[in-house]
Amino acid sequence: MERKDYVALLQECYAYGREIAPLVRWQTDLLILGAGVAGVYAALWAEAQGATTLVVSKDPLPSGSTPWAQGGVAFPVDEADVEAHLRDTLQAGRGLVEEKVARSIVEEAPLHLERLLRWGLPFHPQPVREGGHSQARVRHLGGDRSGLWLLRGLLARLNRLPLQGYTALSFLLAGDRVAGALLLGPEGPVEVRAGAVLLATGGFGSLFPVSTAPSGATGDGMVLAWRAGAILRDLEFVQFHPTALPNGALVSEAVRGEGAVLLNAFGERFMPRYAERGELAPRDVVARAVFWEREQTGGTYLDLRVVEHLEERFPTVVASARALGLDPTKDLLPVVPAAHYVMGGIRTDAFGFTGLPGLYAAGEVASTGLHGANRLASNSLLEGLGYGQAGCFGCLARLGRGELRPATAKATRSGGISLHRAGSEAASWGSFGRCARGNTAAGFSGLCQGTSPAGKALGQPGRG
Ligand SMILES: Cc1cc2nc3c(=O)[nH]c(=O)nc-3n(C[C@H](O)[C@H](O)[C@H](O)COP(=O)(O)OP(=O)(O)OC[C@H]3O[C@@H](n4cnc5c(N)ncnc54)[C@H](O)[C@@H]3O)c2cc1C
Repeated sequence: MERKDYVALLQECYAYGREIAPLVRWQTDLLILGAGVAGVYAALWAEAQGATTLVVSKDPLPSGSTPWAQGGVAFPVDEADVEAHLRDTLQAGRGLVEEKVARSIVEEAPLHLERLLRWGLPFHPQPVREGGHSQARVRHLGGDRSGLWLLRGLLARLNRLPLQGYTALSFLLAGDRVAGALLLGPEGPVEVRAGAVLLATGGFGSLFPVSTAPSGATGDGMVLAWRAGAILRDLEFVQFHPTALPNGALVSEAVRGEGAVLLNAFGERFMPRYAERGELAPRDVVARAVFWEREQTGGTYLDLRVVEHLEERFPTVVASARALGLDPTKDLLPVVPAAHYVMGGIRTDAFGFTGLPGLYAAGEVASTGLHGANRLASNSLLEGLGYGQAGCFGCLARLGRGELRPATAKATRSGGISLHRAGSEAASWGSFGRCARGNTAAGFSGLCQGTSPAGKALGQPGRG
């Protein structure tokens, strides 16, 4: 039977509530659905802890939005910058960011950077500034191929590569527990039984007519979780990137950090009329301004001619423009707002727990509370790293294979994050208070001086 026939058969089964007989059955400790930054980083942690781990991706690798990320990852540049990064995150989120969540992610960020550098990921030493950031703190790799280089670097460290071409269709339930998933693979339906499932299936940007997201960003994970009874929140908070080419190809915000300006159809620079920070105002402000200027003047353009080393620094942008017959070293680029990132998603706690026993979520599919109503630029790859790790720890605790490790030193001292939200998994939180003082290999002073349990984990031997 061909794949399209299976899809039709499965749709029919759903419609009439019939059982689907799998052709193949697999078993694993941890099933990770999605092979973007969140899924792959989680898998690295799980492998290092000795859990059998299966990662699947419905699209060919490198898949998801991760390889499309251009700007990079936001990391505080030094200890003093932690508070400033946090402030920028809160400000961008329009009062809806959960400060405790944001603080834990930002405080942990240097530990991830430290580890990635130790693994040899070639982050450019000079951070750049993006919209909404009060200073240059976004680290990029491979010019503007940050996500691709990051993902390749992570994939290269996995013992077992993700399986490509396997689409999760529904969860397997054992009572009220998520105990695996039914996948559609090249060989037909596959049943995977798992001790825990981590959803890392990304967002739903491609449901919009103009989107920077790849076509596979269809919100599958949110649907699966919702069908199984998880809570979805803030789905109305979709971030529109202010500067996409008319075909949805992204023109990174970083070009504006390097001096590119926005012009309307009359050739006027308009952003200073809308915001003090001009082109570097938060994304929602710039996207609204671009929308209004298009409505009022008939067009909006980005002038990249002033950007130095354009071809070397932004090869993807240059290639995308040339594909439309434009030369960004000479021509103005027509730009439109495009659906870019989903702030909402499956509500999770500090360990990616969704409230459904056995089900965890990380990355863009999750609503952790970090972004509030509006994501700060380059905070999502960071969240993928932070919650990939935290979600893995949540799953491992569920499997009885490790302690839950709180994300911050502060959390250790206070004895726990979000215990009240742990719900029916409360039993697995029993070990929470037992986290010992950690010893970490590196990081900057104060943060990594032995109080962070995640720092302890980073210092453990494993792959890398
Ligand atoms: C053009 C663009 C540029 C961006 N630039 C930046 C940036 O510079 N900095 C930044 O921080 N963020 C950026 N973002 C956002 C960021 O890239 C994403 O939020 C992030 O990569 C999401 O990672 P993820 O692991 O959650 O999911 P993704 O990377 O989207 O991966 C999703 C995975 O799930 C799989 N999948 C989906 N459905 C199923 C299913 N049913 N069954 C099995 N597998 C499934 C996919 O095949 C894929 O492997 C950008 C986004 C875009 C689109």
